[in-house]
Amino acid sequence: MYKHKPKIVISRCYIDPVRYDGNKVNETFVHNLLKFVEYIPICPEVEIGLGVPRDKIFLIKKDTYRIYQNGNDITDKMEIFSENFLRNIGNIDGFLLKGKSPSCGVTGAKTYKKNDGSEFIGRRSGIFVRKVRNYFPHLPIEDEIRLKGHHIKISFLLRIFLYSTFKSWKDKKNFIKEYEIFLRLFNEKFFKEFSKEPSEKNIRNILKRNLSKERAFYILSLIDKKKIKSLPFPLELIK
Ligand code: SF4
Repeated sequence: MYKHKPKIVISRCYIDPVRYDGNKVNETFVHNLLKFVEYIPICPEVEIGLGVPRDKIFLIKKDTYRIYQNGNDITDKMEIFSENFLRNIGNIDGFLLKGKSPSCGVTGAKTYKKNDGSEFIGRRSGIFVRKVRNYFPHLPIEDEIRLKGHHIKISFLLRIFLYSTFKSWKDKKNFIKEYEIFLRLFNEKFFKEFSKEPSEKNIRNILKRNLSKERAFYILSLIDKKKIKSLPFPLELIK
């Protein structure tokens, strides 16, 4: 068993059949990852009492973005639930949420002009995710679609595992020695501050953005050539 388990929030439909049509989502990477993390499953639509199966929800562009089911605006209910949930969730390391959903979708949620889901106008984030971003701007928030990109996947794994490992690592100077290469590649400027003061605030600064594509692929090439001594996450997650 891997030593440090990040704690992440996941969309419940990755593990339970709670989608609007009574199905669940089968994603190999997500299922592999769940063996190595502690996870909190949540289905915001079930939590606000919509049941399974349920009629579809539509994301509608008004002055702001709203969600509707059968012509009824259920945005306030969803926002109240989201705020209560996020406020009380405690110390977590990231989010893995179902793509394209009007609630959970990190990207790709279809947006319409009319309350009944007619007149498609584009894609954006779901309503729940918008609250997640407000509460946890420093944490990685990804979906299974974005994680198909190797560079996004390596950033996500490094961010959740380095952050959780740091919090439970006793000798912080030794942590820096062990993972210096990754920390420098994330952010050289913040790495310098972190070296002087290895605090939680400073590691958050280092890890608050994804690696550039070039740097993520550089790390992957080092892993391929077996040039990395200490990887903070299980190798099988990227093989
Ligand atoms: S995407 Fe989110 S709201 Fe939709 S079924 Fe999955 S967990 Fe529930």
